[in-house]
Amino acid sequence: MKILHRLINKINKIILPIEYCAICLCSCESQICNDCYNSLIKQTPATKCWKCQIIKSPNEITCKNCIENNFVFDKLVTAFDYISPLNHILHKVKYENNLHYINLLSTLFYKRIIQQVTHLPDVIITIPLHPNKQNLRGFNQVDELSNIFLKNHPAINKIIANRVKETTSQATLNRYSRITNMHGAFQIDENLSNKSIAIIDDVVTSGSTVNEMARSCKKLGANKVEVWCLMRAQN
Ligand SMILES: [Zn+2]
Ligand SMILES: [Zn+2]
Repeated sequence: MKILHRLINKINKIILPIEYCAICLCSCESQICNDCYNSLIKQTPATKCWKCQIIKSPNEITCKNCIENNFVFDKLVTAFDYISPLNHILHKVKYENNLHYINLLSTLFYKRIIQQVTHLPDVIITIPLHPNKQNLRGFNQVDELSNIFLKNHPAINKIIANRVKETTSQATLNRYSRITNMHGAFQIDENLSNKSIAIIDDVVTSGSTVNEMARSCKKLGANKVEVWCLMRAQN
């Protein structure tokens, strides 16, 4: 029996590639070791605005960021802040075509979001790429991110939105230009009357992109629109 176990172990080592934890680089059996997984999942958040998830001082009663940006979504739920090493891992997926890590990001996204939401939505809408960008990249990382959520909750309907405007990179624009740049960017051919929606995006910075999608959803009759993102930039 011992010989058989040894043989199975040897075969497993040949068949299964050695994995390294994506965070601390220790060798382990999956893409993340238990210690790194537990510390990420149990993060205790700083004092943040309940609506836009920007860190604010405890004595700040109304959120300046919410007032300045006039967000139409009801609430932002964020898995993590935009921090190392998760931002580097996402960068590898998006710009180095390293889809190896998408399952890890999708799992972490699911675990963190499900801890925080009180009601599951009727509909999930992922932020689409413009077709030219999607053709160039070959995939939309936000669709990949939503996969585990949809697999675990098959009753949630996924609706495809179209990106009908090729926008300039938001990072190069000021706040006013970011809003006008996104205006009319999305088209949804569905009736969303009285539906609750979760818009999913990978990174939220100013919030202009997800806010424009939220505006489109509310125009189509959605009664509740949350935004769920993998990482929220704090500046
Ligand atoms: Zn680790
Ligand atoms: Zn706020």
